Amino acid sequence: MIVILVGPPGAGKSKQSELLKDHEHVVWISAGKTLRELNDPKTNEIMAKGDLVDDDFLNKIMKEKLDPITPNKVVILDGFPRHKTQAYWLMQYCNESKQQVVSVIHLLIPESVSFQRLASRGRPDDTKKAIKDRLEIYTKSILEIVEFFAHANVKIDVVDGDRPVMDVFNNIEEIIHRVHQG
Ligand code: AMP
Repeated sequence: MIVILVGPPGAGKSKQSELLKDHEHVVWISAGKTLRELNDPKTNEIMAKGDLVDDDFLNKIMKEKLDPITPNKVVILDGFPRHKTQAYWLMQYCNESKQQVVSVIHLLIPESVSFQRLASRGRPDDTKKAIKDRLEIYTKSILEIVEFFAHANVKIDVVDGDRPVMDVFNNIEEIIHRVHQG
């Protein structure tokens, strides 16, 4: 069973995924981490520019990751799907395999918090304008994904990410427990 984790930058997706990945029923798949681990020069170049890698290429990698996982595990997909084309592919994949998307966890924080968290990282590309643009793109793509899966009758679980890490974690754990119990 697949759980898709979405949220704007700074929402704490990586932190929560780190905490979840030791859970016995959980398999965590991060698209970005998987791509980095490939260590493929061409892919690294695309990633360094911040561009998205080719859909067919990534879908194939995701298939290889998902194929060996038994459906009784809860697969947390982090950073995938990123837009409608990938979401559509994932639904097709589920139709052809024993997997099913059972929940979309939307880790939500106010835009001002996202802005503050990104600005405090102090990266050279974190100018006000760049942060604003990035947040706009994310918000749009998250809404696209949430709408796509809501339309496919997948449960959308909105989790308030503007709370202490462990409170957010307990909330996500409850959701995982619920989907695992079926
Ligand atoms: P992240 O670790 O999520 O920040 O992703 C790092 C980089 O990996 C992105 O800037 C993209 O180049 C690539 N990437 C991650 N996820 C995807 C995806 N779903 N589709 C295409 N490219 C992706």
